[in-house]
Amino acid sequence: MAVTASAHPLPSPQRAVTRRLAIAVGALFVAGVIAAVSALLGIANQLDEKDVEQNRFYSARALENRITTSKNYITSYAYWTTAYEHLSGPVDTDWAYAEQNMGKTMFTSDGYDGVFVIDRNRTKYSVIRGQMVETDLAEVLQVPAAELLEQALSQPDLTKPIATYSLFEGWPALITAAPIIPNDERPLDELKNTSVLIFVDKLTPTKLRKIGSGYGLTNLTLAPDDSIQSTQPRVPLDSTGYSLIADLQRPGQQLLWSLIPPLGATLIVLMLLTAYFFRHALRSSQYVDNSIEAMQASNLALESANHALEASEERFRAVAEAASDWIWEVDRDLLLTYLSARFSEVTGYPQTLWLGQHIGELLTCDTTPLELWLRKLSEETSSSDLRCTYRDHSGQPRHCRLSARPILHQHNVVGYRGTASDITDEVAAHAQIQHLSMHDALTGLPNRNKLARYLDEALLLKEHAPPLSLLMIDLDNFKPINDSLGHPAGDAVLQEVAVRLRECTREDDIVARLGGDEFIVVLNGMDTHHEIDKFCTRLIGSLHQPVLFEEHPLHIGASIGIALSRRHGYVPSDLIRYADIALYQAKSDGKNTWCYFEAHMSDQIQTRRQMEDDMRHALKHNEFILHYQPRYKVDGKQIVSVEALVRWQHPTKGLLGPDVFIPLAEQTDLIVPLGRWVLREACETALAWPEDVLLSVNLSPAQFAVSDVVEDVREVLVATRFPASRLELEITENVMLNDTDGALTTMNALKELGVRLNMDDFGTGYSSLGYLRAYPFDGIKIDKRFIASISSGTNDRAVVQAIIGLGKAMGLTVTAEGVETEEQLDILGVDQCNEVQGYFMSRPIDKAAFAELLQASRLSPVSSIATRKGRVT
Ligand code: C2E
Ligand code: MG
Ligand code: MG
Repeated sequence: MAVTASAHPLPSPQRAVTRRLAIAVGALFVAGVIAAVSALLGIANQLDEKDVEQNRFYSARALENRITTSKNYITSYAYWTTAYEHLSGPVDTDWAYAEQNMGKTMFTSDGYDGVFVIDRNRTKYSVIRGQMVETDLAEVLQVPAAELLEQALSQPDLTKPIATYSLFEGWPALITAAPIIPNDERPLDELKNTSVLIFVDKLTPTKLRKIGSGYGLTNLTLAPDDSIQSTQPRVPLDSTGYSLIADLQRPGQQLLWSLIPPLGATLIVLMLLTAYFFRHALRSSQYVDNSIEAMQASNLALESANHALEASEERFRAVAEAASDWIWEVDRDLLLTYLSARFSEVTGYPQTLWLGQHIGELLTCDTTPLELWLRKLSEETSSSDLRCTYRDHSGQPRHCRLSARPILHQHNVVGYRGTASDITDEVAAHAQIQHLSMHDALTGLPNRNKLARYLDEALLLKEHAPPLSLLMIDLDNFKPINDSLGHPAGDAVLQEVAVRLRECTREDDIVARLGGDEFIVVLNGMDTHHEIDKFCTRLIGSLHQPVLFEEHPLHIGASIGIALSRRHGYVPSDLIRYADIALYQAKSDGKNTWCYFEAHMSDQIQTRRQMEDDMRHALKHNEFILHYQPRYKVDGKQIVSVEALVRWQHPTKGLLGPDVFIPLAEQTDLIVPLGRWVLREACETALAWPEDVLLSVNLSPAQFAVSDVVEDVREVLVATRFPASRLELEITENVMLNDTDGALTTMNALKELGVRLNMDDFGTGYSSLGYLRAYPFDGIKIDKRFIASISSGTNDRAVVQAIIGLGKAMGLTVTAEGVETEEQLDILGVDQCNEVQGYFMSRPIDKAAFAELLQASRLSPVSSIATRKGRVT
């Protein structure tokens, strides 16, 4: 599995820490600043509050001081006997004003705006701003004069003045009032009605500023109450509606204002410095983070590379273990340093057994030394394959395909590594294919390819090579076995033949199967006729033994054609061809025999082959015709049967008799289609003839051997609807020679179809009369050779008489064929032969002629003998 780097970069811890630190320090800084500022503000506030207090306190003190001063001052005037004397009664204005005791200077130097002397009745003396005026105090003063008077006079201690505030001429003024009493020992009671001195100290801003400055107050002044801010400290002047105020110093604010710029500047500098510091710190941490990230990235890359490596190793392991190959490594001395786990599984050896061993001790190669091959790799520096063999743990030989590559270290070969694929099965399969391509699957014998290879090698040295005899063997009677009993029977026969052939041959010889029922035996180092004849006798004898198939004995024979290398040449294909020609000859000569190739055979065979081709052509183009020869009662008058005899209307050679082509047809299996045609044609033709006339058709023994005669006959009967009871089949006794039991079975089956069986040419073969008992014949035909000689006085007549006697005794219809003369006919009549056939009565004639003959014989049986019409043969 591939390891991919994370899509999201990991958070950079250092920068985060730095950032957090920056935030913390920033927060601390801000907190510090806030604390400092709030402390500062607190201090400033306290200072300001204190200032307010002080302001109020000193304002009050200033006023009180003014009051005290004013009280003291008025006391000094009122508690003065002289004044009492000049003022308590009628006012002595001269003393008071003119003499400046209480005149102008009171204003100019002492600052009093008004000086009044009143009694209960009136204002007795008035000086306003230094000018003596005639005015009533009540007019210029807000406070009622009577009230002032009462207060002053009602004092327990008359020496004590009173002070109050009142508007004077619309502006607040400090009013001090003191009873004018003498400062002597006179009793005060009588002074209750004394006049009262009143000083009006108008609290002008100038005066107040002056007073205030004495107390450190700035701009001590008066202001209407409603115009004063609530925060402003004040000293209210009773009912005047004015309060005394002074400018606040606001030391706190001053402090703030004095501190803020440098503090602010310092803060800004600090902030800038902090910002710079943090920026630097952040950059540093960024750098650190980047380094960390880079490190992490490289760690990740490393991790990913590790993962990839692990995955690769995992894959390698999986492949190494799953593959059928095992992996190996050797050092520069070719000692095994590594073997994969598969090695043990494939070879059965524990890996440790071979580690440290030389690879050449494990593996060998028969084409090139392994060590040499490996050393060569280093020069080519490319991988290559070598097929090696070894023995596995159980000692079994195994094959492997070795691939190798040099291991390079700094351009030097330090060893080799590669894989070993087990190809034992492949090699076995290849060997199997090789074997199959060279051998016949059914019998396991070498096939045509192997034979050709063998002959090529064996004949390579020509006359210097040992002599060879090539025998081509063809089985007789194989085809009917295969056709009637099926392929399993055929296969069993071929396999058995193969075994017998091998048994008859030596190790140096070769037995091959070319296909079908054709075999070749090559006898190595044997070429005398004597030796070969002995061998062939033995071979035919061996093959003649019945082959058991499912408990049925199957009879086969063999024909052999022989070619000899010393006589016929050293070309394999020629030798095979010659043996084939000789085989053909052997078959023609009669089966179960052998024949050596002779030069002249080629021509004969060529002619026969041509004929064979012509026959095939003739079958297709209806060149065959049938002639019919009647068979009579022994009186020679009544036609009881008619024999169909085949002819070939050859396009160039004219009408050919069966003797020319039937043997060839029998040898080539052409007899089968020809026989079927004859049977069908004859039946169809005979259908037109009277029902009491039988039809005789000749069957060749070869037909018995190569086709299912019973089925062929049945098919024709069914197809033509010809009554089986009218059909008579003529079979020579040779049919019993090849396969006695088979022939009997076939004949019984034919009988079951309802046909009659006649033994043809009786007396020419090897059959004894005893045979007849066992076979279901209905009649026999005595061969014409005996008939030809019965009139010559030889003892052939006796033989014929014996045959007639025996045949009749066995209930058979005895026919004499080849009756050419009246004498013969007569003798046969005398000897009580049943029926006769021969040129004397009628030659074989074409069907039209026979139809005529038949018609004539019905009309006049006697005349028919003389009538010789139509084409005859
Ligand atoms: P076969 O069946 O014995 O036929 C009689 C042969 O004797 C015929 O010869 C016939 O022409 C001849 N023959 C008849 N009467 C006389 C006579 O008085 N004197 C002489 N010298 N010969 C006489 P053919 O037609 O040449 O047939 C020869 C043989 O060929 C037949 O002998 C038969 O074995 C075979 N053959 C003929 N036609 C067929 C056929 O359709 N199928 C088979 N398998 N064989 C046939
Ligand atoms: Mg016949
Ligand atoms: Mg005959």
